[in-house]
Amino acid sequence: MSLIVHKYGGTSMGSVERIRNVARRVAKWHAAGHQVVVVPSAMAGETNRLLSLAREITPQPDPRELDMIAATGEQASSGLLAIALQTQGVSARSYTGWQVPVRTDSSFTKARITAIDGDRIRADLDAGRVVIVTGFQGIDPDGHITTLGRGGSDTSAVAVAAALEAHECLIFTDVDGVYTTDPRVVPEARRMSVVSFEEMLEMASLGSKVLQIRAVEFAGKYRVPTRVLSSLTDPLIPLEEEITSGTLITFEEDEKMEAAVVSGIAFSRDEAKITLLAVPDTPGVAYSILGPVAAANIDVDMIVQNQSVAGTTDFSFTVNRNEFQRTIELLKRDVIPTVKARELVTDDKVAKVSIVGIGMRSHVGVASLMFQTLSKEGINIQMISTSEIKTSVVIDDKYMELAVRSLHKAFELDQSPTEKA
Ligand code: ADP
Ligand code: ASP
Ligand code: MG
Repeated sequence: MSLIVHKYGGTSMGSVERIRNVARRVAKWHAAGHQVVVVPSAMAGETNRLLSLAREITPQPDPRELDMIAATGEQASSGLLAIALQTQGVSARSYTGWQVPVRTDSSFTKARITAIDGDRIRADLDAGRVVIVTGFQGIDPDGHITTLGRGGSDTSAVAVAAALEAHECLIFTDVDGVYTTDPRVVPEARRMSVVSFEEMLEMASLGSKVLQIRAVEFAGKYRVPTRVLSSLTDPLIPLEEEITSGTLITFEEDEKMEAAVVSGIAFSRDEAKITLLAVPDTPGVAYSILGPVAAANIDVDMIVQNQSVAGTTDFSFTVNRNEFQRTIELLKRDVIPTVKARELVTDDKVAKVSIVGIGMRSHVGVASLMFQTLSKEGINIQMISTSEIKTSVVIDDKYMELAVRSLHKAFELDQSPTEKA
């Protein structure tokens, strides 16, 4: 008997019939003698629907109230799943984040989990129940409901698995694993049977929404065995087949993975670029610009500062597109009057495309093949950033899909490692 955490995403919970299928799958695991905790997402489209209702009232709603609204999507699907299990003869009980409790900080709309109390869950599991923990939500130190950022149910699941020291966390979704890139954009993308933790972390942080980045961080920090697999197969598929399907995140680099120089391509359209032109190049200028941005809890991604010419420099950075307006307002109000940039130039139609692979550590020429491929397609690179295992570029977002497809081909990701020259 093992303790297993299952997570089901929006598509998997997308209709009453799909919820019945989730219940069948969970019942199968329970009948095999496992203790099962299930973390469901809201039904597909529900979180967007709820958030857009608030934005119909005002373009910038109070984040605390947004969390109040958004958290209801997961609460409804948790209750529905409990009922579906009960109708199939399985004893089940659902809990909201505050009932568990799942404790978080107070960063509304992007809160971080700080602790999970496993006592109540364990008591129910020991009584033979399936326990459903509402994904995406928690409670802050003052008792306010919080949510964990888009895609946050992944993080709820892995954090619950860590807190309960679960044997495995199974992320059931609408694809059958982690692919070399999003299979919706590149149909030739290949599923990886294993992916290293470090590569998964980069892929998630660079925009592959198959797993939320914080879920991957939790998996790494607490060494939670985590597998991404399909919820759209026959729910009664034999357990032995199911437990080896999908993609497992591994914490060891085996020989096969070291051979792959580039393992995957990630991309994100949620980017916006901001440039301050002709900023006086004096010590402390980066802090004067980005200090207020950080203080407003806005994440800055890429930063480029040019060589100074005649005592001034151009300073560019990117932020998430949904924080673009807020960043511009803040710069105009708190930064430009003191920093005295000549001009503020902005572009919220940019995308980031990244190649990721642990093999990049020991191979040269990888970034240059990336640049050559983009140049052949006539795609202009606006910004570049590199780390040991990734190279990212910012480009015009209308070329994003073309860039991803041509890079996928150039790095031969459509071929299995043995087919490659
Ligand atoms: P869920 O609702 O189950 O959480 P998401 O929509 O958040 O599902 O994540 C699954 C989706 O992630 C897939 O349908 C796929 O389009 C997308 N995706 C992006 N990059 C990848 C990748 N490298 N491998 C697999 N899926 C990916
Ligand atoms: N329902 C939330 C979202 O759409 C959380 C999740 O699905 O993981 O972002
Ligand atoms: Mg998701």
